[in-house]
Amino acid sequence: ESEQTELEAARAYVKQVYDSVVQRNSMEPEFLQAVKEILDSLLPILAKETKYRENGILERLVEPERLISFRVPWVDDQGKVQVNRGYRVQFNSAIGPYKGGIRFHPSVNASIVKFLGFEQIFKNALTGQPIGGGKGGSDFDPKGRSDREIMNFTQSFMTELYRYLGPDVDVPAGDIGVGAREVGYMFGQYRRIRGAYEAGVLTGKGIGYGGSLGRKEATGAGLVYFMREMLNGAGLSFQGASVVVSGSGNVAIYAMEKAIEFGAKVVACSDSSGYIYDRNGLNLDTVKRLKEVERKRISEYVNEHPGSEYYEGCSGIWTIPCDIALPCATQNEIDETSARQLIENGVKAVGEGANMPSTLEAIDVFLNGNVLFAPAKAANAGGVSVSSLEMAQNGMKLAWSAEEVDEKLQGIMADIYRSAMAASQEYGVPGNLVAGSNIAGFQKVAEAMLAQGVI
Ligand code: GLU
Repeated sequence: ESEQTELEAARAYVKQVYDSVVQRNSMEPEFLQAVKEILDSLLPILAKETKYRENGILERLVEPERLISFRVPWVDDQGKVQVNRGYRVQFNSAIGPYKGGIRFHPSVNASIVKFLGFEQIFKNALTGQPIGGGKGGSDFDPKGRSDREIMNFTQSFMTELYRYLGPDVDVPAGDIGVGAREVGYMFGQYRRIRGAYEAGVLTGKGIGYGGSLGRKEATGAGLVYFMREMLNGAGLSFQGASVVVSGSGNVAIYAMEKAIEFGAKVVACSDSSGYIYDRNGLNLDTVKRLKEVERKRISEYVNEHPGSEYYEGCSGIWTIPCDIALPCATQNEIDETSARQLIENGVKAVGEGANMPSTLEAIDVFLNGNVLFAPAKAANAGGVSVSSLEMAQNGMKLAWSAEEVDEKLQGIMADIYRSAMAASQEYGVPGNLVAGSNIAGFQKVAEAMLAQGVI
């Protein structure tokens, strides 16, 4: 009976917090979506532990410590002045300096940056590393821009952002539209303005100037390491499985590589224009060259590989039959319809490489549909984990071998799986890794906030 009362009290608390978030952020659908997912799954722990309710933990968690937005003026190749908007959300620093990527994409706005920053808090806590949650970006569209334009823009972006950063303050990295090239330009500009070599201020740097071996591969490889644990728990594996991967960026490419290494057949991948399909398995070398070196569209692939097919549009990729689906493109790329389609075609496991690629409705379909579901916060945490290892190496002024980093990454992904699983069991939702990840990440941050007083 008292258990029932506590659950009702937790439900009322969550509703009150969520209502105030809606009121304050009514124009930010992606942020509200991320908050709703987390708050709903925290009910069991909030019912059991009154201390979080009594100390306003949720009220404080949903409000960023700081949201910075700034003008980014730059000159394009025609000599015309362009202006974009830059953002950095410093969401929560209870367990470490703000950590999270920078995204350059026309869709970037306060809602996108806040949803990403909010999720980053729990993801980063789950890794077991001492890193807080942050995220940033700009509505700048890098598509079709020359290298000089990318540099002009990126330097201007950093000229504004640098004053908020530092190796013990806030440490950005890449995300969509920001790779090694952009991180390099950001680091150069930071170093120039700051007048000191603070290697740990950014991660995802080139290997020759403070980057970590294995960082580039970490998000995709980590996703597959996580999936291996989850599949293993159900007596399944990548061996002989057919896999569909959306996207063809840094996450998708190294997820495909690791899946192939583990004996899977990757039959499809995509970019923002459309997707390629080859039932006999894609040639990853071609995908890599087209996207990483030549920066071309994925549609070019079919010119080199007769027998493969290209289709316009993005959601069609989820109509392809597969055993394992790895959404590695962007938020809300799998809706309820796509989720049902995947299940109808026999999908056994879904692993989120992108951030929030499944809508709330799609997640429900997967959880109720007997599909193994690996949520982004757990499954794509490999990238930020190795970022944290990069910070550690920078701090110690040494470099670990690729093997050392990979071994640590495998250990971290297995630990994340174990702690999410354990939390799901302890709080009465066994095997639900959405709830398990959220609860495990929340608990760590909430305890640190309690210990540090009302700040
Ligand atoms: N952008 C990546 C993520 O979503 C990596 C962040 C980082 O390495 O700081 O987690």
